[in-house]
Amino acid sequence: MVITDKERVRRLVSLPDAKPSWATRLKESRVAIVGMGGLGNASALYLTAQGVGHLTLYDPDRVNAHNLGRQILFRPTDINRFKVEAAREHLQELAPRASFQIEPVALNEDNAEELLKGHDVIIDGLDNWNTRTVLNRFSVRHHVPVVFAGAIGYEAQVYVVNGGKPCLQCLFGDSPYADQNCALTGVLGPVVGMAGTVQAQEALKILLHAGDLLQGRIWTYDAYRAQSRIIQFTARRDCAVCGGEGE
Ligand SMILES: [Zn+2]
Repeated sequence: MVITDKERVRRLVSLPDAKPSWATRLKESRVAIVGMGGLGNASALYLTAQGVGHLTLYDPDRVNAHNLGRQILFRPTDINRFKVEAAREHLQELAPRASFQIEPVALNEDNAEELLKGHDVIIDGLDNWNTRTVLNRFSVRHHVPVVFAGAIGYEAQVYVVNGGKPCLQCLFGDSPYADQNCALTGVLGPVVGMAGTVQAQEALKILLHAGDLLQGRIWTYDAYRAQSRIIQFTARRDCAVCGGEGE
């Protein structure tokens, strides 16, 4: 059975602040998802289901059995396939009319310009700090919003760099926050899903110009204590990435 685009967005356009243009705007949107792990899986599912017309998926890795506890797009039969290939197949089933481009490559300073151009929003589904800094610089240089996230142990966090100040560098400086890796520390599957879902929520708000973004604010969730909070952060005057850009 084929469902119409109108049916897919019926509940969305029933929101009190919905505009008639929302359905078309989503259909014409292009979102890049860099990393198809747990964050990328959850955000891709919601963005596709909600009616985003085009997704580009980047990840050089193949599906591994130990991914299945949190990377909910993948099936046991996907093991050893490229993540982007398996993800495209399952997302296409969900939304036959959406278009998906796949790039089984690792993003870096040299290829980011070429691979990321032409997208309205970028989702960070990465597990390493260096590539996040590449996304941050691209965001500030080209004024393209990036929705960053991390999930480790029982904790998740999400924040938006909206193509200017304050940026990722303002938040963490050169501290190697970061290369905490869930391969070493472990993570509760649904916590990753929550972070990815909040990323999809922020991306949709950016695309639809709705609500208040997590810009200059980090949303953190501690699943162990079942508590969430918001932490404010501001631009650094001497920031090497966004200093001198915008307000
Ligand atoms: Zn900055």
